[in-house]
Amino acid sequence: MIPLPERERVLLGPGPSMVSPRVMRTMAAPVLSHLDPDLLAMMDELRGRLAATFRAPEGSFAFAVSGTGTSAMETAVANLVGDGTRVLSIVGGYFADRLAGMSQRYGGQVARVDYEWGRAVDPDAVRRALKTNGADVITIVHAETSTGVLNPVQEIAAIAREHGALTIVDAVTSLGGHPLDLAAWGIGAAYSCAQKCIGAPSGIAPIAFAPEALARRVKARSFYFDLTLLEDYWLRRKYHHTICASLIYALREALLMVEEEGLEARWARHRRHHLALRAGIEAMGLALLPPEAERLWTLNAVRVPDGIDEAAVRTQMLQRFDIEVGAGLGPLAGRIWRVGLMGASSTPAIILLFLGAFESVLRAQGAKVPPGAGTAAALDALAAGSGAVHEQA
Ligand SMILES: *Cc1c(COP(=O)(O)O)cnc(C)c1O
Repeated sequence: MIPLPERERVLLGPGPSMVSPRVMRTMAAPVLSHLDPDLLAMMDELRGRLAATFRAPEGSFAFAVSGTGTSAMETAVANLVGDGTRVLSIVGGYFADRLAGMSQRYGGQVARVDYEWGRAVDPDAVRRALKTNGADVITIVHAETSTGVLNPVQEIAAIAREHGALTIVDAVTSLGGHPLDLAAWGIGAAYSCAQKCIGAPSGIAPIAFAPEALARRVKARSFYFDLTLLEDYWLRRKYHHTICASLIYALREALLMVEEEGLEARWARHRRHHLALRAGIEAMGLALLPPEAERLWTLNAVRVPDGIDEAAVRTQMLQRFDIEVGAGLGPLAGRIWRVGLMGASSTPAIILLFLGAFESVLRAQGAKVPPGAGTAAALDALAAGSGAVHEQA
């Protein structure tokens, strides 16, 4: 029999991120059934925490889909896109393309604003597309995990509103890591997952529908992701599926930790640690792919230098140091490494460990990296950013 892992992997890929022992322990509590009054009471409480994390407006329905981030993506699409719905999909990466494809599967008439992978979308391109074709629904990925780019969602949602379109936001890699405010930004629906910046294992996915999205729902073709049936279960206690109590425990504990840290403090932590990692990467003579103003704090796309074997570096990081980093996808395959600093993986200690290991592996591959430069620069940035290097997540 293959043994269970004995050592903790340092999870610095595009997700999953590390899960704190506090969250892991909750999953050893006894299982409750999906209709147990105690579990349902916990789920009511969870809805409130989720609404607060999304900053969803009054009257929203925030809950968690039983599945990964993609199941929440499908829940948003299945209930807001039907036959003939005019969808404008903004596509500059792998996940935005998935969202556009899914909208088509559900019967949407999909027009696309395609832009360069590794850049943020230009809001004027969206304005032009809306002027020409109009749209009922706009889909956009806030944090494009495939390219390391942050999109101007607040601006796009405002443009969508001017044209009477509802915005669906993929917040899988931004919820809990970057500012996001459904109420203030006028977003129709947004979804995320548990295993990126929230800090729980995958298998349960936060989602929020604002009142206008609830009102504009279509008849869902999917049974499992039907919003009305999910409301029947979450609000009216009618059996729909057997939700996993252990994952509810984990998600509620992770959200409690978000609340204790404070959403804004958590955003600031992700930013500070991104800047420290960036300082280290640059001091090693490497560069990030997106321009400075368009970078994610939660996922760093590091350019592979000429002459370096991208896959060999990832293998060495894993074998020698137990550190997982991600590969590039699609047009960026072989051109970038994806280094996630999300949730419990975003700590000073992990940044230093990563930079030390990365230096060693790159030097073994023949790269001319000045010894100690990465960790020294990161330590300086951490000291400048917080006044204390020993700060914990
Ligand atoms: C990870 C990710 C998803 C998919 O989530 P799964 O949990 O793998 O299903 C969707 N969108 C973005 C932006 C992601 O980063």
